[in-house]
Amino acid sequence: MINVTKTFLPPQEEYNAILKRAWDIGWITNRGILVKELEESLKEYLKVPNIIATTNGTLPLQIAIKAMGLSDEIITTPFSYVATTSSIVWEGCIPVFVDIHPEYLTIDETKIETAITSKTTGILATHVFGNPCAVEEIEAIAKKHNLKVIYDAAHCFGVTYKGKSIFEYGDVSTCSFHATKLFHTGEGGALFTQDEMLHQKMFYHHNFGHKGKEDFQGLGINAKMSEMQAAMGLTILPYIDEIKKDRERVVSVYLEQFKELQQLKIREETQWNFSYFPVIFEDEEILLKVQKALLENDIVPRRYFYPSLESLPYLKKTNLKVSRNIASQILCLPLYSGLKQSSIELIVKTIKNAKG
Ligand SMILES: *Cc1c(COP(=O)(O)O)cnc(C)c1O
Repeated sequence: MINVTKTFLPPQEEYNAILKRAWDIGWITNRGILVKELEESLKEYLKVPNIIATTNGTLPLQIAIKAMGLSDEIITTPFSYVATTSSIVWEGCIPVFVDIHPEYLTIDETKIETAITSKTTGILATHVFGNPCAVEEIEAIAKKHNLKVIYDAAHCFGVTYKGKSIFEYGDVSTCSFHATKLFHTGEGGALFTQDEMLHQKMFYHHNFGHKGKEDFQGLGINAKMSEMQAAMGLTILPYIDEIKKDRERVVSVYLEQFKELQQLKIREETQWNFSYFPVIFEDEEILLKVQKALLENDIVPRRYFYPSLESLPYLKKTNLKVSRNIASQILCLPLYSGLKQSSIELIVKTIKNAKG
């Protein structure tokens, strides 16, 4: 089977050798040596001043909302993974959807201002498939209306915009290190902010609010990364440039072969990370035909993101035309390091034949 993604697994002995360091001192969680080392390595690799490693990429969204005291309405995108919306609802806030740009697939910044009400406290937008939002325009809107900005940067490991890590934009950015993501720790994630006070606050939040053993700074939750997770990250990090390069090889074939299809438009001045390869078909009927043909060849693409999030059963219905249409037409093709040339050719041939 050729799946949409394949988790990169490093040589197991390398993982074991790193994990042994935690074993030897009998300390496997609560911010052990490996978590701290991974944080330092990531700060250096990503060139960011701050990071908090977390147990997944969803709790960071909730911690960010909590730490900045967001309430009532949060403006967000319908074209993302469910965690973006569910985090808002889980924190007792109301997601207010703004439609997306038809080419960049990120929130349409020109439609944000009309969605702002006296109850709006923040904007939570996703850098879709590693493609940055219009961060300057969003920052200007947020300043003007006194709103906080959180970026769900789950897909953005290694992405830079205008020469700076994409994690440095917005009040807070979050990342996911889930096994299906470009860089992973099995399950895992991270929080990024430029604001030292906010960093401290989120740090307490992610560890029950502990300030020392017997003292509490405030409310908290458990979002700590374990040593088993950190060991995976430390094992994989030295391979990450190689992984990206091999993904670029696959992407360049797709780009060449699917010129006639709508592809993701990457924002100017972005150094992209080859995290996903979506194609957008003319309509859903063609997509379903292609999907069926691929499945018959044991190739498993993914309808991602589908469905558009305003259709979640716990939300009241809204009509977001661009997002709904794109969600019905978009398919992410298999993309991972080690994907064989013969497999790529089979994927290309199957799609071209099915599409007619
Ligand atoms: C993967 C993902 C998340 C959730 O991350 P987890 O690590 O699985 O909790 C959130 N948002 C987006 C856009 C994602 O793709």
